[in-house]
Amino acid sequence: MICTNCFEAEYISGKTELTVNINGEKHVLRDLDCETCPVCGEITFTHGQSLEIDKKRIALEFGLKPLLTPVQLKTLRRFLGMKLDELCDLLHIGRNTYGRWERGEVEITPSMNLLVHNLIEKVPHARVNILESDRIAAIERANAILLARYISFGEYIREAITSTKLMPEVVCAAVGMEPAELVRIQNNDVAPESIPPEKTARLAYFFRINFDPLKKLLNEAANVFAMKSSVTAVHARSTCYDAKGAAVQASSVNKIMEKLAEKKSAEPGRKQVSEEYLAKVQNILERLREGGE
Ligand SMILES: [Zn+2]
Repeated sequence: MICTNCFEAEYISGKTELTVNINGEKHVLRDLDCETCPVCGEITFTHGQSLEIDKKRIALEFGLKPLLTPVQLKTLRRFLGMKLDELCDLLHIGRNTYGRWERGEVEITPSMNLLVHNLIEKVPHARVNILESDRIAAIERANAILLARYISFGEYIREAITSTKLMPEVVCAAVGMEPAELVRIQNNDVAPESIPPEKTARLAYFFRINFDPLKKLLNEAANVFAMKSSVTAVHARSTCYDAKGAAVQASSVNKIMEKLAEKKSAEPGRKQVSEEYLAKVQNILERLREGGE
């Protein structure tokens, strides 16, 4: 074929390289077959050569996306609120396929891995729930604000979950806790020292709270809890009739108690979590960090 740039010569086969943009990063594809003009140096690709380049680019892109784990795939489906067969239909895959990936029976294929990664990137707030690096970044942004405030352990967890858009069940799964237990902790309905140290440490590890701020959160929780236990018995149960109303009421009662506790924070007789409990939590927290779980 004659050169469409200079019309002086026929193209001859050659090699070239191309820079491609993959997930915002530049990568160079080398040793690519092409057609080149011996007179002006113009480069062109035949249809077959273009397909080869596409293949190389896609292979590189697949390779750059870590394979989604069974836990991540399950979290995504729960996040989307879909049943297995519903999601399989939407992804145009066999009815049992997604379930097999979720159960870890087979690995997700590279092409579906890329498709699902693209999906995660497009669905609002999916990334923070599924991709660890996004979750860590969101938690650290939230911590910069929350840990500077007067806040109890329970209210911290509620606010951190709300502001990062994490699903409570993602927190529960990471910490090994039932959703109802998490709600009780959020509402400071349980004395901090009654939370098993392992769970307190796992929550702190998950939310990237260092020991000193953690101690402060737990002490505030102890004060809110003490204040609540003196008033709750009087009226808390009588005014709500459904679970949703009860949840709203429980969280607003806690928020009010927290405000009161803050106002009294300069007064003597403040509650403190025992050194013994804190030492246990600190040990477990250090173990978790060393293990890098
Ligand atoms: Zn030419």
